[in-house]
Amino acid sequence: MQIHLAKSAGFCFGVRRAIKIARGLAAARKTVCMLGDLVHNETVIQELEAAGIRKIKRLGAHCNGRLLIRAHGASRRTLTLARRHGYTVVDATCPMVREIHRIVRSMDRQGRRVIVIGDRRHDEVLGIIGQIATRAVIIDHAEHIPWQALRRVRKAAIVVQSTQNLDRVLPIVERLQKRIRDLRFFNTICQPTRMKQEEIKILPLQNDAMLIIGSRTSANTKRLYEISKALNPRTHWIQSPEELKPRWFGGMRALGITAGASTPETTTRAVIARVRALTKQIRINNSK
Ligand code: SF4
Repeated sequence: MQIHLAKSAGFCFGVRRAIKIARGLAAARKTVCMLGDLVHNETVIQELEAAGIRKIKRLGAHCNGRLLIRAHGASRRTLTLARRHGYTVVDATCPMVREIHRIVRSMDRQGRRVIVIGDRRHDEVLGIIGQIATRAVIIDHAEHIPWQALRRVRKAAIVVQSTQNLDRVLPIVERLQKRIRDLRFFNTICQPTRMKQEEIKILPLQNDAMLIIGSRTSANTKRLYEISKALNPRTHWIQSPEELKPRWFGGMRALGITAGASTPETTTRAVIARVRALTKQIRINNSK
């Protein structure tokens, strides 16, 4: 059986950078806290905790040291509160998310209503809307546009959560363009996400089945899974090699694999090794 691993599988630039900053602080034996998970991957978080980085749920839980801001970014209020609590802020926000923050602040200054296309409870989206004092509008689906909240809006600007799927974003933009006279659209889906999504539109069609590796909490992994599943029903979403099922590989000639932006290469390699072991076992059993 052939295994085709997506070129874009695994860590994106922003996640790699955030982990490097975290490891650097831990190696220098600084007291460091992360507010929530630095990235959406349990293996990475366990490794960072083992290196001495404390995870806190709320800013009140004082750790007398540095507060690491995750790749998804944070609201301005969070940063102000952190400084007020005495933390030294170390900002590991991905530069591409920071660019979205800059756009949002600039559009707000121009008097445009800010519209964010994304998952309304996702940390990145909360960080984006938390850049401005004016209330932003969040839209997660073309069928859920809050027309009532937008009825008096004449000037607006749209930004997009960096890991969204453009195919789901464009129908929302088209509908808004028909109703809002002066509308600017910033496609802020980041380059690593675009690359991953381009590959995931091809790989499922070229392979008998697909494996998507990543945490259940990872939004971009979920997106990869959804796109792949729609193209190839034999798509499986796993977090670790232990979740692989031998019955998935019977009679298979080609398997495509990709991994979310927070999935470590070690996990992907372990999955590939386990797939090879399982398929070897199947071959031996079949030849008996
Ligand atoms: S998915 Fe994109 S925006 Fe998010 S951390 Fe990675 S590179 Fe940055």
